[in-house]
Amino acid sequence: MSDASSPLLSVAAARASILHRIEAAAKAASRDPGSITLTAVSKQQAWPRVAEALDAGQRIFGENRVQEAQERWAQTRANGSAIELRLIGPLQSNKAKDAVDFFDVIETLDRDKLARAIADSAAALGKCPDLLIQVNTGEEPQKAGIAPLEADDFIARVRKEFQLPLKGLMCIPPADEPPGLHFGLLAGIARRNDLPVLSMGMSEDFEIAIRFGATHVRVGSALFGARAPLQK
Ligand SMILES: *Cc1c(COP(=O)(O)O)cnc(C)c1O
Repeated sequence: MSDASSPLLSVAAARASILHRIEAAAKAASRDPGSITLTAVSKQQAWPRVAEALDAGQRIFGENRVQEAQERWAQTRANGSAIELRLIGPLQSNKAKDAVDFFDVIETLDRDKLARAIADSAAALGKCPDLLIQVNTGEEPQKAGIAPLEADDFIARVRKEFQLPLKGLMCIPPADEPPGLHFGLLAGIARRNDLPVLSMGMSEDFEIAIRFGATHVRVGSALFGARAPLQK
């Protein structure tokens, strides 16, 4: 944990270590390490650190704000880099069109109004990112995500009513609870709805998430170091 935010560790070394830990966790769970993808959470990280990750071969990145992501990644994209950008932060309906246009994956679909906005934007733009539904497994009032008991109905509506390309689920467990229960809950919802993608696990708990079936782990500080303070 202490080396996670050490400024002395290069991003390349941190990434190699994380990939090694992903592989070990997969093997311990009798899973194929190739079935787990590292999403590098680059939000609020200084660009030189992010560039180091690119140099080290990282191609999949998570950002939590549409505008910040556009500002930071548009040029890299325009230069022809084959990167995959995943929106992992809450999305307002009025930003849906920008998000549909820019991201490869939106992980935070959690309500009908947003599903409608994404569907309308996808129709207008003639393309749609892959979608994950965020489930608020801890039912925390301050957190985004659909309540676990409403998830099955929402999944059905996203598929039938909105006809959106739903691929899986995402969650952020409460900070003060053992994450395994939440990962297990999310995996159960995915299994009974036939959803293959499970985005769960962050710097502190990605190995546990892998044990519970994570296909995508979202790692920020363990890869890049501590984030700059959030500017409001
Ligand atoms: C910031 C963030 C992460 C990365 O968190 P770390 O603890 O720094 O690895 C992962 N997922 C989401 C949704 C985030 O907002």
